[in-house]
Amino acid sequence: MDHLRRIGQLRRRMTRAGLPGLLVTHLPDVRYLSGFTGSSAALAVTRRAARLFTDGRYTTQAAEEVASAKVQIVTGPPAVAAVQWLAVQSGVIFAGFDPVYTTVAEHARLRAALPTAHRRGFLSALPAPLVETLRLVKDEDELTVMIEAALLGCSLFEHVLGIIRPGIPEVEVAAELEHRARLLGAEGMSFDTIVASGPRSALPHGHATLARLPRRGFLTLDFGIILKGYCSDMTRTVHLGAPTAKERAAYHAVLEAQEAAVAAVTDGARCGDVDEAARGVLRKAGLADAFTHSTGHGVGLEIHESPRIGAGQATRLRSGMVVTIEPGVYFPGRFGIRIEDMVAVTRTGGQVLTPAPKALVEL
Ligand code: ZN
Ligand code: ZN
Repeated sequence: MDHLRRIGQLRRRMTRAGLPGLLVTHLPDVRYLSGFTGSSAALAVTRRAARLFTDGRYTTQAAEEVASAKVQIVTGPPAVAAVQWLAVQSGVIFAGFDPVYTTVAEHARLRAALPTAHRRGFLSALPAPLVETLRLVKDEDELTVMIEAALLGCSLFEHVLGIIRPGIPEVEVAAELEHRARLLGAEGMSFDTIVASGPRSALPHGHATLARLPRRGFLTLDFGIILKGYCSDMTRTVHLGAPTAKERAAYHAVLEAQEAAVAAVTDGARCGDVDEAARGVLRKAGLADAFTHSTGHGVGLEIHESPRIGAGQATRLRSGMVVTIEPGVYFPGRFGIRIEDMVAVTRTGGQVLTPAPKALVEL
């Protein structure tokens, strides 16, 4: 990953925004700009220099991982050291911080750590995030990792199809999936694995429980792995036993909606229009009320990133973004269905990164 180039891009944005200094405390942003993967760090960037602050536990790791910034080991909170450093850099009369990731208490602490003359006005809340907007568009290196992560996810899905049978608890499916994920090189899961069977499939976030898989009914698997820091995210809904005509019709409506939204992913498409592509299909099928969430979200170093693919969202997709497309329908107490792919936006349209089959699997 070319972290130096990313810091260069950030500097250009800082110049455009008239910002002489920037404090970066959100760890995925720190990682994006420096490669540092530790759990305690702050990065300070000026037009001339970049410095990463972390504590003594990470001396060796930071030296190995960070090439795009000078590393300074500190004993106190890294963010405090970072603002104090910024305050003494020549030409840095104020520094931006991201208010989304700074609590009121943290802000007060940072202010109190500054020399008295700097307390008023030195720290300036960014009107719009700078690093997050850089992270929206993935570079070649990131796409390569994300393709690999998505394919690993698909292989896990195909693997667990082999163990799914009535009577086993949902957690057994989740455990098998997660165990296999680690053996195949995943650093962890992107979020708590969702294994929701029978009426529990109507819970959009039904984490795996001790509930046993029914003889007949839907089973939703929504999971993701982390590979080299990047998250994958996919959902498949399968059916145990034979589905009723109603269940089958609902499944096909969701699949049609999902494919319509995938087809609507193009460079320049409005996120709201992609959402509408899915929503319109479900509306026609009389299932609009059962589709209770937005169509998708950006994914990358974090499982939920910008942009949001929701109703009315004016943000336009750009080549290099990676989003999920995951419409679903939910009938409380009865069943639910969701199908989710990761899709990379390219100049020629959407490239599905999760090629696992979507035709209704009956087990
Ligand atoms: Zn998901
Ligand atoms: Zn998702």
